[in-house]
Amino acid sequence: MPKIAVVPGDGIGPEVIEQGLRVLGALAPDVELEHFDLGAERYLRDGTTMPADVMARFGSEFAGVLLGALGDPRVPSNVHAKDILLGSRFQLDLYINFRPCKLLDARYCPLKNRVEADVDFVVFRENTEGLYTGVGGQFKRGTADEIAMEQEINTRKGVERIIRAAFAWARDNGRRRVCMSDKANAMRHGHDLWQRVFKEVAAEYPDIQPSHLYVDVLCMRLVQAPQDFDVIVTNNLFGDIVTDLGAALQGGIGLAASGNLNPGKAALFEPVHGSAPDIAGKGIANPVATILTVGMLLAWLGRKNDEVRIQRAIQRCLRAGQVTRELGGSLSSREATDAVLAALD
Ligand code: ATP
Repeated sequence: MPKIAVVPGDGIGPEVIEQGLRVLGALAPDVELEHFDLGAERYLRDGTTMPADVMARFGSEFAGVLLGALGDPRVPSNVHAKDILLGSRFQLDLYINFRPCKLLDARYCPLKNRVEADVDFVVFRENTEGLYTGVGGQFKRGTADEIAMEQEINTRKGVERIIRAAFAWARDNGRRRVCMSDKANAMRHGHDLWQRVFKEVAAEYPDIQPSHLYVDVLCMRLVQAPQDFDVIVTNNLFGDIVTDLGAALQGGIGLAASGNLNPGKAALFEPVHGSAPDIAGKGIANPVATILTVGMLLAWLGRKNDEVRIQRAIQRCLRAGQVTRELGGSLSSREATDAVLAALD
């Protein structure tokens, strides 16, 4: 029986997780859950961010972790979020940030005259290196001579495994195009490595069409012609930005799911949105991102069919306008989930 660790977290996290677990329970009642009291409340109560033994258990005992959201105005340093989320990504070596950007209903796309099939791509964002490792330093902080340095880390191993994962996924899922995005014209050392490794790996996949775009051009092209993309692979920073653009194209962060993956080893699934303190506690947060995230988790557990059922049910609700307020509907988080449950075939 697969075991899932659940971290509801902060703000709207517990609200959307509660709804996501209703759908998980309906489709996979045999999945065993263990809840973890981690997040801002716990940190403010006893100073704990991420106990080492819990991290070890996440990596060894659970088939995956389901996270709500982290972030609380009472913890401006965000230290708990860094330890829990970035800590998991680095220590569990979750090197793939997997972000499908699929438009389920054309009405929610901000681009005009689009059909659902126009936005259906997946981003493979490198998740363990790049500019997000915290390597760097400050010198003469707070003075007029202050220097702040942030180092971008690109290792051959790290670059190769994310590019390989993108090609492998494309082949396994019947996709024909992989686009690598960097800024090699301005960042000549690290991104030259990306260029060389991309060419090498692409040569092993003659059935997949490789392409390259500088990240600024990619952003333009995603808005002008999202239908040109199947799979995008890029570094940590660019992936962070491009996936928010992707979330907007699919209808907003209330509809965007993500997985942090190390195939065969560990995984952490989370909706793309944050803790949204402005709407927390009101029961109006859109649960769909979390329900789609639950679908991704079920696919990870080998239940792809359940993920498809979830997507179809959500699509029916979107078509019927059974949505929360930020999408123009009037439903609460619970009512939106009721609608999804009723629409499951
Ligand atoms: P983070 O830094 O953690 O990404 P953030 O505050 O920058 O957090 P979000 O928490 O994702 O970003 O929220 C941005 C805004 O989007 C929120 O203020 C909220 O109004 C809206 N929002 C986010 N998630 C949802 C949701 N599930 N349902 C409805 N609105 C949402």
